[in-house]
Amino acid sequence: MGNPKAFLTIHRKEAGYRPVHERIDDFSEVEQTLNASDRREQASRCMDCGVPFCHWACPLGNRQPEWQDRLYKGDWQGAYEILADTCDFPEFTGRVCPALCEKACVLNLSCGEPVTIRENEAAIIEGAFREGYIQPQSIERNGKRVAIVGSGPAGLTAANRLNHLGYTVTVYEKDEKPGGLLRFGIPNFKLGKNIIDRRIRLMEAEGVRFQTNTVIGKAYPISVLLNEYDAVCLAMGAETPRDLPIEGRELKGIHFALELLGQQNRQLEGIAIDEAKRIHCAGKRVLVIGGGDTGSDCVGTANRQQAASVTQIEILPQPPVGYNPETPWPQFPKILKTTSSHEEGCVRRWSLASNRFLGEEGKLTGVEVEEVIWNPDMQRTGRTEIIPADLVFLAMGFLRPSKAAVFESLELALSDEPGEAGEKDIPKLFACGDVVSGASLVVKAMASGQKTAVEIDRYLQTIKS
Ligand SMILES: Cc1cc2nc3c(=O)[nH]c(=O)nc-3n(C[C@H](O)[C@H](O)[C@H](O)COP(=O)(O)OP(=O)(O)OC[C@H]3O[C@@H](n4cnc5c(N)ncnc54)[C@H](O)[C@@H]3O)c2cc1C
Ligand code: SF4
Repeated sequence: MGNPKAFLTIHRKEAGYRPVHERIDDFSEVEQTLNASDRREQASRCMDCGVPFCHWACPLGNRQPEWQDRLYKGDWQGAYEILADTCDFPEFTGRVCPALCEKACVLNLSCGEPVTIRENEAAIIEGAFREGYIQPQSIERNGKRVAIVGSGPAGLTAANRLNHLGYTVTVYEKDEKPGGLLRFGIPNFKLGKNIIDRRIRLMEAEGVRFQTNTVIGKAYPISVLLNEYDAVCLAMGAETPRDLPIEGRELKGIHFALELLGQQNRQLEGIAIDEAKRIHCAGKRVLVIGGGDTGSDCVGTANRQQAASVTQIEILPQPPVGYNPETPWPQFPKILKTTSSHEEGCVRRWSLASNRFLGEEGKLTGVEVEEVIWNPDMQRTGRTEIIPADLVFLAMGFLRPSKAAVFESLELALSDEPGEAGEKDIPKLFACGDVVSGASLVVKAMASGQKTAVEIDRYLQTIKS
């Protein structure tokens, strides 16, 4: 612990976002960063708690107090090495993680000013790239081969870990570029895609092969992978969005959130979009159904596309501001979250169920909503109103992938289900990330990728090459 009294004298200081008027016309990252001196001062606030709840709360088991101390002392390389030991891609989590660690930080309990753990993490990894601490490693090969299906954070983490253990790894990806939802889901204003490219280049330089535009399933059967590789890991995400099958669903102008977000990210990558399918928010009244983070990403994107108005509705009641007795420290608090996208302009409403879509000549004109009361179950009040809208984005979460559907898409029998090695019909088949857990978080997908890499390594050590 660097400065034992810093937490008493130094306040939490966030770098904050670029001003709204500056950022609203571009898709560059909105978050700023502190200078090195302020960053070290922030790191000095860490109390090196006897029981570090930040470490307990982190799905990756990051050793925050240890790297905060190195950062405070100006040992950026030492901080990076401790961080990289548990977190494969701090440049992703340092940008988009909701920071379960900060919510559990003891300083959050004692004074409501947790250590700026996430921002410090991002600063350490950016410093490490800038100063050249990160160089491709030359890895001794062990002669065994692993295929990963899906290049989101789970697949990338499993690939990275197995590659460093000496396995020859190929990642198969159906999209045009690797990254999964990091690439074609999360908007560029939260995570610049040059950050993903930089990591992919490093992984390639260390020997990982990426085969994009390749759908594993009927066109490219998994049986080929199972024949050619010593182990196969499914990291295909949870891709089926929850639908809203109410009257008028067929009207033109109703889209899933990822149609908008995926198109926008592709366009920024210079990937051509079929004009007939292209969604334009400019001048339109946009309604986002779903009050979570995906909905918020639609708000930020619609505003950047110069929508005439943006409204976001949620069926659940408005969460409490600041503190929720139902989720006391050190739990992740269910409280009102105002994102950078909300700050940029958006009407937010809660306790509204959607009854039917309204339209004229096949085009959406509005949505009839009804106020509901939660007591504790949902009760309809009969109080309805029409919210005018030209475009609706459905951001109501994703269905948990059923094993039956995943296996059918891969033309595998259900008895082939991945499980503990030795207890399944295809012992070489493994799975990690959202395809197992259902839609989750980047950090949890990465933790799952790490755990599965350990399982694959354990399994492969038992078989002869
Ligand atoms: C809009 C949006 C914003 C989000 N924002 C955040 C955030 O800010 N912070 C956060 O922590 N989490 C966020 N999440 C959640 C997070 O992105 C996911 O939990 C995480 O990406 C899951 O990782 P994964 O590797 O399991 O799956 P994915 O990232 O979904 O990757 C799966 C990959 O598998 C590929 N694939 C699927 N089937 C096949 C096949 N048959 N053949 C070949 N390839 C295949 C897909 O194309 C995809 O690239 C967000 C999610 C969404 C939708
Ligand atoms: S809980 Fe907060 S103060 Fe305590 S060790 Fe973790 S980051 Fe430091």
